[in-house]
Amino acid sequence: MTSSRTKPSIGWLPLALIAITVALFFATGMLYVTQTRNRSLMTQTIRSSGWVAYQAELEYVKADSALAVAAIAPNADALAAAELRLEILRSRLPLLYNSDEGRVLRDVIDLEKPVHAAETLLDGLMDRLPAISPTDPGAAETLLAIQKDMAPIGTTLKRILMESVAYNQEIFRRERALAEAPGMVPLLLLFVSGTCLALVLLLQSRRDRLRLDAIVAAQKTVIAMEENLRAIIEAMPACMIVINPQDDSVSFVNSAASALVNLPLDHAEWRRLVHAAFQAAIDSSGDRWGMLNMSYARISGDITSLRGSLCRVIWEGRPQLLLVMVDVSRVRRAELQVMQAAKLATLGEMATAIAHELNQPLAVIRMAVANANRLLTQIEGGELVAGKLDRISAQVDRAKRITDQVRRYGRMPSEENEPFPLRHAVDLAMSFVADHYRSANIRLALEADIAADTLVMGEQTMFEQVIVNLLVNARDAFESSGVRTARSVVVRVRVHEDEAVIEVEDNAGGIAEEVMPRLFEPFSTTKPTEKGTGLGLSIARSVIRDMHGTIGAENVAGGARFVIALPLRHAARNAA
Ligand code: ADP
Repeated sequence: MTSSRTKPSIGWLPLALIAITVALFFATGMLYVTQTRNRSLMTQTIRSSGWVAYQAELEYVKADSALAVAAIAPNADALAAAELRLEILRSRLPLLYNSDEGRVLRDVIDLEKPVHAAETLLDGLMDRLPAISPTDPGAAETLLAIQKDMAPIGTTLKRILMESVAYNQEIFRRERALAEAPGMVPLLLLFVSGTCLALVLLLQSRRDRLRLDAIVAAQKTVIAMEENLRAIIEAMPACMIVINPQDDSVSFVNSAASALVNLPLDHAEWRRLVHAAFQAAIDSSGDRWGMLNMSYARISGDITSLRGSLCRVIWEGRPQLLLVMVDVSRVRRAELQVMQAAKLATLGEMATAIAHELNQPLAVIRMAVANANRLLTQIEGGELVAGKLDRISAQVDRAKRITDQVRRYGRMPSEENEPFPLRHAVDLAMSFVADHYRSANIRLALEADIAADTLVMGEQTMFEQVIVNLLVNARDAFESSGVRTARSVVVRVRVHEDEAVIEVEDNAGGIAEEVMPRLFEPFSTTKPTEKGTGLGLSIARSVIRDMHGTIGAENVAGGARFVIALPLRHAARNAA
């Protein structure tokens, strides 16, 4: 299973938006603070600038008054007062363009030149004042002349004051307007930044919700997949073992694996199995991943052939190892049995060929015996030898019968279905094993309650083979069970309703319990591999089935009984 991982995309856009919003927010705040401070400073300065113009105008009025007072009654004190006033006025004039407040005025009112002219004029007037003597009769007139000459300064200062007042009024108007609609730009910026922030939060929350939904859906899918996988693994007939590679402990096994070892997971037996599998999985290059074939000795002592593979998996979120193994013991056994069956088939072919070849010499011997017999009749006292020759002839006949049976037995079955006499076929099959039974000290009896011409339909040779197989199995059962005395096999043949029933019953101890459920399946055998193939009863069942009959087996007191039921010829024809 391959997994494609999509790299989560970094949300650069929201981050950038957040950064921009925060920057805008701070910028707005700072702008607002700076603007407010500047405005208040400016307002103060402008207000002060009006004050400077007003002060200058005031000093002018005072100086003008001082000159008028001195002109009415010229005396030393009045002159000194007028001179002081002119000096104070002179000191005020530079403030109009040189102070902070004056610089504000200078930018909006054309004052520098007129003020310089006023200064020059005032300097000239101040020079004239000390020359006046209080006792001089023209002092009053001189003072009035100076007052008159000073009038342009008053006009200039008045103009400046008026313009400054007008400017201040404009500023006040604007301030009021601003106060009514405070900080449009900062407000706008605040609005933009707030909108950005809201957008960002909206985007982010939407994104988070989508991501959360995707994660929840993915988690559900993963959980469902894991549950499915577990169910499949549990149901698998193969043994599946999950191993923690850190310490080679077993973290999960399915039911097939539990059945194989049949011990708790923390039992050392699991570790033994795992290490054996690791060893088996190591290939020629020393790598331990791939296919494996191994034999495993269970605690019970049974040897199991296992075939499987070892691979890496992600199990419960962690990298682990998965060992998958199939019990191939039955397949291995079947392979051996097939080989054995093939060998037996070859042997059977050889036996048939030998039987065929023996026919020729047997015929020659028979002919020679007949000739010798004929010659002996002409010789006197030849009766003794003739008796011997008769015995030779009888044995030759017997040998011929045996080879005939072997040839019949080995002959390939045809697909022809012909009626044949049941009793005769049973006789032939019994005669085929008679010698073996005699040498094994087994009594073989036939209880036939059937007419000699009772017919059944089928391939006679194959039917004989079925009976022979049952008789050979019974003989083998005596060998393996160890029953030595009163060995007996009875073959019963009778007619029941429309069927012929053939029973083969022995007292050899019965059929083993473990083989009973699969008795008629191929390769079910309790015999050692070199002796049994487990094919005999399976072939018997298919032969009987081809004859439209049935075959069954049961254990009876002291032995086994096989029962075959075949339709009689009349019934068989109907069935056909
Ligand atoms: P095979 O003889 O090669 O084992 P069969 O199919 O003929 O194959 O027989 C299957 C098995 O059935 C035998 O291995 C034996 O265990 C059991 N069996 C058959 N006949 C008898 C019998 N008469 N008594 C006890 N067991 C029998």
